[in-house]
Amino acid sequence: MSYSISIERTSALKQKPDFSQLGFGKYFTDHMFIVEYDDGEGWHDARIVPYQPISLDPAAKVFHYGQTVFEGMKAYKDAEGKVALFRPFKNLQRLNRSNDRLSIPAIDEGLALEALKQLVTIDESWIPTEEGTSLYIRPFVISTQAALGVSPSEKYLFMIIMSPVGAYYREGINPVSIYVEPQYVRAVPGGVGNAKTGGNYASGLKAQEEASDKGYSQVLWLDGVHRKYIEEVGSMNVFFKLADKVVTPALSGSILDGVTRDSVIQLLKYWNIEVEERAISIDELVEAYRNGTLEEAFGTGTAAVISPVGELNWQGERLILNGGQTGPLAAKLYGFVTGVQRGAVEDPFGWLLK
Ligand code: PMP
Repeated sequence: MSYSISIERTSALKQKPDFSQLGFGKYFTDHMFIVEYDDGEGWHDARIVPYQPISLDPAAKVFHYGQTVFEGMKAYKDAEGKVALFRPFKNLQRLNRSNDRLSIPAIDEGLALEALKQLVTIDESWIPTEEGTSLYIRPFVISTQAALGVSPSEKYLFMIIMSPVGAYYREGINPVSIYVEPQYVRAVPGGVGNAKTGGNYASGLKAQEEASDKGYSQVLWLDGVHRKYIEEVGSMNVFFKLADKVVTPALSGSILDGVTRDSVIQLLKYWNIEVEERAISIDELVEAYRNGTLEEAFGTGTAAVISPVGELNWQGERLILNGGQTGPLAAKLYGFVTGVQRGAVEDPFGWLLK
């Protein structure tokens, strides 16, 4: 099937930032993708246009009731300058699951993929090539109908913007300190924890701020019902190495189904390392720590790929993992996944779409 996407190229290319000082999500490329939805007409007028502000009615539903979803994915350039997307289908499928949960009409994944390919091709010169850098891609949907009734919007915009991002770790991967959150919760069963919607991030800021005031870089979220089962770490999924196996919380409905999580599980199985997806309580972790079987913990997500945890603070008790250093499993996973992304390691799973 062919999709019609009109293209208006910018007449004034932007000055590019210093690619050695990118940080995360601070600069945006020359173009963006936009497609509109109206009840009756469906998605229409798909186009790539110069990156620019959009104008919305102050009554647009997104401002009031948060009917919005987003995705986060990356494009990479290998040593020969070939461009690849990492598992884009997974992100587009998750986008539509988020849409469904937020009562947003489904997007044609074929159209979205075609838009991604064309946009990345047009702004290819924005893909940085230094190790650890990439082009971060942010597809998102907002509800735009100007009406204050609490009901699904009759109008939406689906857009894709892109930002060159720097290496998450400038001097090799570094462990982070994590505060196990005793008070706030991120999600509950039946809620929207497994959807990538703005409210989940807005409601997490307070806990993150308080943990940061205590000197911790992120929180470890516990479940909202029993307040003892591990869910996620900041905005990453989380894994623990317990002696001879690896465990990660099962997708209970209140956890985001991470693409990196899925990739790590696939890779561990490929390496014949036993991996269990199940409920893990904080008590089990503390117990494993005390008897010396909690060897490593790490978060997984598109931004950092693998983020080793050097310390967990649970009710004032400081659990120092692997001597506060990056563990061997986290390092091996990081090396393999980022190697595949850069085209430096063979891709046995077909993760890259060139
Ligand atoms: N959990 C949350 C809440 C997230 O926002 C993310 C980032 N998308 C993840 C987990 C990791 O998902 P992924 O590996 O797909 O980036």
